[in-house]
Amino acid sequence: MSTQQTQSPAGSTTPDAVEQSLYEQRAKIYPRKVKGVFAALRKSGGAALLALYFVLPWFDLNGTQIVLFDLPARKFHVFWFTFWPQDFLYLAFILILAAFGLFFFTALAGRVWCGFTCPQTVWTEWYLWVERSLEGTPNQQRKLDKAKLSAKKVWLKFIKHTIWIAIAAYTAFTFVAYFTPAKELTREIMTFTLGNWEAFWIGFFTLATYVNAGWMREQVCKYMCPYARFQSAMFDKDTLIISYDEKRGEPRGARRADVHVDYKLQGLGDCINCTMCVQVCPTGIDIRNGLQYECIGCAACIDVCDDVMEKMSYPKGLIRYTTQNSMDGKKTRILRPRIIVYFCLLTFFSSLFLYSMSQRNLVDLNIIRDRNQLYRETQGLIENIYMLKLINMDEQTHDFTIMVEGINDLSLLKDKEVITVDSGAVAELPVRVRTAEDNLDGRSTEIYFTMQAKDNAGLTIKQKAKFLGPIN
Ligand code: SF4
Ligand code: SF4
Repeated sequence: MSTQQTQSPAGSTTPDAVEQSLYEQRAKIYPRKVKGVFAALRKSGGAALLALYFVLPWFDLNGTQIVLFDLPARKFHVFWFTFWPQDFLYLAFILILAAFGLFFFTALAGRVWCGFTCPQTVWTEWYLWVERSLEGTPNQQRKLDKAKLSAKKVWLKFIKHTIWIAIAAYTAFTFVAYFTPAKELTREIMTFTLGNWEAFWIGFFTLATYVNAGWMREQVCKYMCPYARFQSAMFDKDTLIISYDEKRGEPRGARRADVHVDYKLQGLGDCINCTMCVQVCPTGIDIRNGLQYECIGCAACIDVCDDVMEKMSYPKGLIRYTTQNSMDGKKTRILRPRIIVYFCLLTFFSSLFLYSMSQRNLVDLNIIRDRNQLYRETQGLIENIYMLKLINMDEQTHDFTIMVEGINDLSLLKDKEVITVDSGAVAELPVRVRTAEDNLDGRSTEIYFTMQAKDNAGLTIKQKAKFLGPIN
């Protein structure tokens, strides 16, 4: 709280002090239900995403959960692929692609992500649906909230919050099931043997979902989401935005739909000032005041205004998807420098990602030279010592053979002819390589180690190393 002194118009300070809160009290928003093309798109898209999210952990592929981030085993199963910590590069690729994808679609189509696919939007819609189903229309909800405590009110609120918490708990359970197999997690819950970490994360995500979708709703988009803040930097006058056609709509004013007088003669525009666009807005803004960062691009105002226009027998599209240039009567350009740059970067990184995935090797071989001695002479031959680290990133255990080439009459001495490496394991193999000094080109000669699985020739890797000898 702050204490302020007021100033008289003449500028002199009056002694009466007033207290003013620095924080504005949040007024709960009760968005109206909306029907229309975009509402259907949003609901069906949201339902498909929810179904995918909840169903995926229950499917297995080759005996492993289809998407599983197995942290203890340091293995990430994503459909047909298994990634290891060594595959960090692919994660970087995925993050880069996601970032450029977001930039590209935001520059092209504005906040489609926020309005149609963002989890905050999808879960909030679901929570709102529960609220409306139990408490009725926005007016009935307001009335209930203002009403004195009664058995009916307590019962309705109890049911609503129980359903919200159940949704939040199942959301949290599913999230954790992407890290601990869903069936194992279910068994642990049923037998009261849930681990501390799993219990913590289920509790944490239950609370986060319940608070974000049930209580905070549009506040998350307005005050917490960083994307809402920086997305305007990606906008230009050709970006698709949801906008009210001020030229057509103003001056706004009420009129009767059944009295067919030329309202234009009365000096009115197409907006009948019904405020339906404000009443359906989940962030509580008035789109007629222009583009605002609070607008999540959900298109609910388009649907409802089109409905109003239809009832008034006016053309639809008073609120519509358009661009600033189009509103200013100028031509909209889809192909413009930033779109081309984002598209090229997206294509480049996608191609690089696909290429590196196609070249991805499930075995790796690290060669470490013995640091104590550059070389030594043994039985008239020059000998170098190496430590080989064999990495098996395949789903199965394999027996591997090691070969060396690159210099005439090279001999490879090792303790084992075949080395077994478990799935996801790293095995070490010390080796000695020998040759006659006459076979060397100079101080340093390149040699090549090849590691190959005995049962799968496709699991092969060839790595270069240096063989050092005396200075000639
Ligand atoms: S819904 Fe359409 S007609 Fe009604 S106030 Fe909004 S812009 Fe005007
Ligand atoms: S102004 Fe329209 S598009 Fe923007 S959040 Fe409100 S209802 Fe959705």
